[in-house]
Amino acid sequence: MTLIKVVSGVRIYSRNEGQKIQKRRSAMARLVVNQEECIGCGTCVEICPEVFELDENEKSYVKNQEGCQSCDCQEAIDSCPVGAISWEEES
Ligand code: SF4
Repeated sequence: MTLIKVVSGVRIYSRNEGQKIQKRRSAMARLVVNQEECIGCGTCVEICPEVFELDENEKSYVKNQEGCQSCDCQEAIDSCPVGAISWEEES
């Protein structure tokens, strides 16, 4: 895997030439759901049920920052219809 660049703390890698570029979080980043923007569609929960859960108000929240076993949560971020999920750098 080759590091292409770092944008706002997110490392962007290319696995192999010609293959899909994959974003990965930096070691100091954590997932954040903006509950004011969340419409409760449940897409992130379907993609990463180990990480996201809907609360009693049908708003998503991060229940386990380290729970993702498959996509580093980038698929959930990219699939949110309102862009409510993002990486936030820890200070
Ligand atoms: S995908 Fe986005 S809008 Fe849908 S539940 Fe998750 S955070 Fe909310």
